Amino acid sequence: MQSFLETPIEFLPGVGPHRAKSLQSELQIYTFLDLLNNFPFRYIDKSTFHKTTEIATDAAYVQLKGQLLRVQQLGDKRKKRLVAVFSDGHGTIELVWFKGIRFIMPKLKTGVEYIVFGKPNQFRNKWNIPHPEINPSSDATTKVGGVLKPVYGTTEKLSGMGLNSNGIERLGKSLVAQLNGKINETLPSLLRAEHGLMGREEAYRNVHFPQNTALLEEARHRLKFEELLFLQLIMLRNKVVLSQKLQGFVFERVGENFHEFYGKHIPFELTGAQKRVLKEIRHDMNRGVHMNRLLQGDVGSGKTLVALLSMLIAVDNGFQACMMAPTEILAIQHFETLRELLEPLDLNVRLLTGSTKKSERTELHEKLREGEIDILLGTHALIEPTVVFKNLGLAVIDEQHRFGVAQRSKLWRKNTLPPHVLVMTATPIPRTLAMTLYGDLDVSVIDELPPGRKPIKTVHRNETSRGGLFFFLQQEIDKGRQIYIVYPLIEESAALDLKHVVDGFESIEKRFPKPKYHVSIVHGKMKPADKDFEMQRFVKGETQLMVATTVIEVGVNVPNASVMVIENSERFGLSQLHQLRGRVGRGADQSYCILMTAGKLGNDARKRIKTMVGTNDGFKISEVDLEIRGPGEMTGTRQSGTFEFNIADLTTDKEILISARKSAIEMLEKDSELNRPEHRETAEELRRIQRKKPNWGRIS
Ligand code: ADP
Ligand code: MG
Repeated sequence: MQSFLETPIEFLPGVGPHRAKSLQSELQIYTFLDLLNNFPFRYIDKSTFHKTTEIATDAAYVQLKGQLLRVQQLGDKRKKRLVAVFSDGHGTIELVWFKGIRFIMPKLKTGVEYIVFGKPNQFRNKWNIPHPEINPSSDATTKVGGVLKPVYGTTEKLSGMGLNSNGIERLGKSLVAQLNGKINETLPSLLRAEHGLMGREEAYRNVHFPQNTALLEEARHRLKFEELLFLQLIMLRNKVVLSQKLQGFVFERVGENFHEFYGKHIPFELTGAQKRVLKEIRHDMNRGVHMNRLLQGDVGSGKTLVALLSMLIAVDNGFQACMMAPTEILAIQHFETLRELLEPLDLNVRLLTGSTKKSERTELHEKLREGEIDILLGTHALIEPTVVFKNLGLAVIDEQHRFGVAQRSKLWRKNTLPPHVLVMTATPIPRTLAMTLYGDLDVSVIDELPPGRKPIKTVHRNETSRGGLFFFLQQEIDKGRQIYIVYPLIEESAALDLKHVVDGFESIEKRFPKPKYHVSIVHGKMKPADKDFEMQRFVKGETQLMVATTVIEVGVNVPNASVMVIENSERFGLSQLHQLRGRVGRGADQSYCILMTAGKLGNDARKRIKTMVGTNDGFKISEVDLEIRGPGEMTGTRQSGTFEFNIADLTTDKEILISARKSAIEMLEKDSELNRPEHRETAEELRRIQRKKPNWGRIS
């Protein structure tokens, strides 16, 4: 029997086939339940009004009641604006419109009492409200329901058929009125009691038509908890299913190569964190189940060495291993590093990238198939179908965020059983994201930097101190240090950006002339061979300055480089800045990061720079990044809809997520299949969600 909530929206009184079609296409509302899950994006608290004289921050929305004193159109033809001076009897504030002036102007009248809602903004020391919502206080729309009036997102098309926010509110009212007991509870009562969660029906009632703020908060809390709990149930069950279903190769031996390297050739003592993580990996790889592990660690925490040791274990057990990096520069660097470290061992380590010559490639493919190559390093070239291993046992993916899910899963198919998989992050991911995005992976964390590192000193400078900057660079070079100078290069403005890099290079060469100084330049438009040549000159210390775009962002390791200058740093994202800064501070010397900015900074840019100057801790930085950008932007999953939550918000609901995950784990520990009677409704809801959101199950 079709449940009440699954009833097609068409059958709700006031909808009908015509509107139903638009509700589907515009808001993805197909059923009664979808309408219930279409939550208000805010509420108008009709009981409180702010005073114009009390506005003190541009952070929050305000609601004002008063009249318009004047309305006038200002500016010239190209840059028109509409300004209305609004008074609430305490003071005045300007309401400003830059768009839609023709429609708004006729609606604005003096002598009428309005309710104005918007986000104040400070301009030349005066407050104004750009593009506010404004309604006559006599308007029926402000008179329905309780004290808190819901506001729904809608579209032009829906508004055109009477389904503006008020129209949607009316539909919600008629649906909620019919609920009485027709709605099943999806959370076990014990769980609800334990967490003090409101019942489902009451929660829906209050999230749409709250009696008061306290009940609204309770309702939202319950719904967020529910949403996150189900996500975690899906992720955790995937993890269990994968590890039960997927047999893994058993690496019993920690053998010859590992011992030889660890005992005699390892260049330094592993940090405690590296040892712990290595133990976790070893344990995973000899249990007979498939390893799918995420290695989190800050820039420079020594993830490469952990990867290397893990690969040696694979080799010691008669398997091949590979490591894939997102850029050619990084792949080459891994190759150089590993080849040098492994020199004393009798191993065949090779490199495969897009620019590997055809003849070499053919030879390499063959050796790989015959098992003569032990460790293969490279770029995306590794996942091509022509690359066939004899016996791949471990695949390491460096800087995993640069690879898509599909690319990673291709590595799984490179052997009869999937090889063990170790994915490594470039910079730390906030805990909430790790739990969501990688909820079905096991996570290891390197939370300790190698000893003896001096924290990098980070400063913010602008054009006025350019002279001083150059002088400082010269001093550092004369001490034998090397310098990076990085320019932004983004696709949208590629031509202009490229010019900036090249101009920058020329002016640096002028300031640091030959023969005393030598300057390298590396950018994405150069041929791989030229890039490599320039990179190697810098690595070998033949050039003292490296002018580059973000091609050097990840992974590059030149310990003698001690200064990172980032030009136009306001244009970089936080994790990028942190990655770039991570290129220095790799040796024993004091290192510096100089964030140059040009012009006036926006709020977000200011926050990014301030964060960078304030801390070196990648875990802290990632939390701020999440606040600024939100989860979708941050992980590049916005398009894929991965983070399309109905109500939960990973930037603010960390505590709820942690407790929902804990509950999900407890539930599955007791009843892994959710077969028990008390879990019947939960299991049913889980199946429903999985049908609807198939991508939740294949995030990592
Ligand atoms: P990331 O985690 O960012 O990939 P890397 O693996 O490139 O970091 O390591 C950064 C630097 O730290 C390298 O020069 C590496 O040789 C060095 N390193 C790694 N582990 C240790 C250690 N235990 N003690 C000292 N230096 C180390
Ligand atoms: Mg690295």
